[in-house]
Amino acid sequence: MELSRRDFLKLSGGASVAGVLAYKTLDPGLASAGSLQLDLNKPIGEIPAICCYCGVGCGAIVAAEADKILNIEGDPDHPINQGTLCPKGQALAQIRQLNGEINPQRLTEPLYRAPGSTEWEPKSWEWIIETIARRVKDTRDKYFITEAQNASGATVTVNRCEAIGQIGGGELDNEECYLAVKLARALGLVFLEHCARL
Ligand code: SF4
Repeated sequence: MELSRRDFLKLSGGASVAGVLAYKTLDPGLASAGSLQLDLNKPIGEIPAICCYCGVGCGAIVAAEADKILNIEGDPDHPINQGTLCPKGQALAQIRQLNGEINPQRLTEPLYRAPGSTEWEPKSWEWIIETIARRVKDTRDKYFITEAQNASGATVTVNRCEAIGQIGGGELDNEECYLAVKLARALGLVFLEHCARL
């Protein structure tokens, strides 16, 4: 049978009316409400996050209820990992909790081990940042080299500091690495290393 456009619209309209009538017959309560009432106040929230374990920077979706993580999975909309996560990324929740409880080994404040000491002691962020800045400044002032001899014995300008080294972490992404290396080079550092060096 060949359907004209008008026939098609008539049939579609009839089917819709039939559907509405059937729906009202099945559940008069819902019909009187005029529309389905869905509870949108669910306690579970899904939050986009970035995996902190390596510089790839995969996107994850974290589902949490109250203060507990219920599920973590790859973000399908993230351009880098497109929904996948490696085993480390799948274990992201362990940073915060273990077997449903707060992970007792989770670091929540900076720890400092004094030279010669075998003990780590908690310090405030203010103290840690101030101490690092002070030591970098003092060390650079003391050991900065402006000139050195090259292989031919000629004196050349070098402007470098060999007394400080920098080691990067696999958690740093491209932008953070860019800034970290910029800072190191600006200070005259020449010894830069990375934990994920292959
Ligand atoms: S550790 Fe795995 S999931 Fe996390 S950013 Fe790196 S590759 Fe992605």
